Amino acid sequence: MNREKILIIEDEEAIQELIRYNLERDGYTKIRGCESGELGLRAVREFAPDLILLDLMLPGIDGLTVCRRLKADPATESIPIIMLTARGEEADIVVGLEMGADDYLPKPFSPRVLVARIHAVLRRRQVAAEADEGTLRRGLLYMNRGTREARLGEKLLSLTYSEFEILYLLARRPGWVFTRNQIVNEVKGEDYPVTERAVDVQMVNLRRKLGDYGEAIETVRGVGYRFNPA
Ligand code: CA
Repeated sequence: MNREKILIIEDEEAIQELIRYNLERDGYTKIRGCESGELGLRAVREFAPDLILLDLMLPGIDGLTVCRRLKADPATESIPIIMLTARGEEADIVVGLEMGADDYLPKPFSPRVLVARIHAVLRRRQVAAEADEGTLRRGLLYMNRGTREARLGEKLLSLTYSEFEILYLLARRPGWVFTRNQIVNEVKGEDYPVTERAVDVQMVNLRRKLGDYGEAIETVRGVGYRFNPA
């Protein structure tokens, strides 16, 4: 199930229905649709969406104006917007992107592409938000780089500086393979100088401290390590 709330601002009922159907099939349960810019702006306040699909050609307040107002308001500026566009709106697309819209999708679009774009935008937002805060959550694992706090569920982990940095580095990009050399370069250990050989030792210690969750750190033979939470 996807927990994010999605607002569709689109005056064509058939398109709104098509989007809603495909989002529901993809597991989204919190979806709201509006037929005009006015209703859309009001819905943003009431519904507080995590993402907005915004048709540009709307009756009354047009899509670009909706975009401009949302991006000018600190309360709503960070809500990602994917513009739904028609042929001939290239100039508006450029304006929208420059105003801060995240992406656009020309009509007619394939539902699969739409869903993929939504996932991509939401993922990008999450990564950016986490980077801002210096925190991350991957299943049971929670890390806060500001407070140097690492937890597995309720359990506080006692990690050395280097262990913390290595785990944070890997967990920031799940599935991404890091070579030992990259890990050495990224993690400037203060507890002792990190060498490629030392990385292996750190991994052994990290896995031991993580217990069952340690399986999330995968050894990629001959290359390095990657983080793959179950
Ligand atoms: Ca329209």
